[in-house]
Amino acid sequence: MKWYGYALVLVAGLEVAQAAPLAGGPSGGRLLDSSPRAEFLVNPERKVEIRFVDEHLKLVPAAGQVVGIIAEAPAGKSRLDVEPREGALVTTTPLPEGDGYTVVVQIRATADAKPQNFRVPLQLEPCGDCQRAEYACTCESHAEDAGHGP
Ligand SMILES: [Zn+2]
Repeated sequence: MKWYGYALVLVAGLEVAQAAPLAGGPSGGRLLDSSPRAEFLVNPERKVEIRFVDEHLKLVPAAGQVVGIIAEAPAGKSRLDVEPREGALVTTTPLPEGDGYTVVVQIRATADAKPQNFRVPLQLEPCGDCQRAEYACTCESHAEDAGHGP
């Protein structure tokens, strides 16, 4: 099913020639335009997983990247620590309750590299069109939301 969904995204990308195709992460998460490229995923435990991928969206085990996750929940900002798990970096604690708030992902390629920040609107309900969670939606109408944070 995953490959089928991905094929549809590719086809949609070809049909709209001017708009940049919005690629989805290979594990159903949101693809961040970071270097190295990374996929943002909320797992069933509500923990954030950051998985690094190459240009073919093939999983590349994390190696020396530094990731910071900040949940801007209504109850207050909190920083979540990450730990390596099966090649990914996974937060040690679940995201604060609820959704609709912003999760800031800060990625450094190495410990002393410049941080790259991404603001992900945490919308966990599934999209009716692409069936991905809204935060990872690849539908055309979401293209304008895919920008970088400051
Ligand atoms: Zn969608």
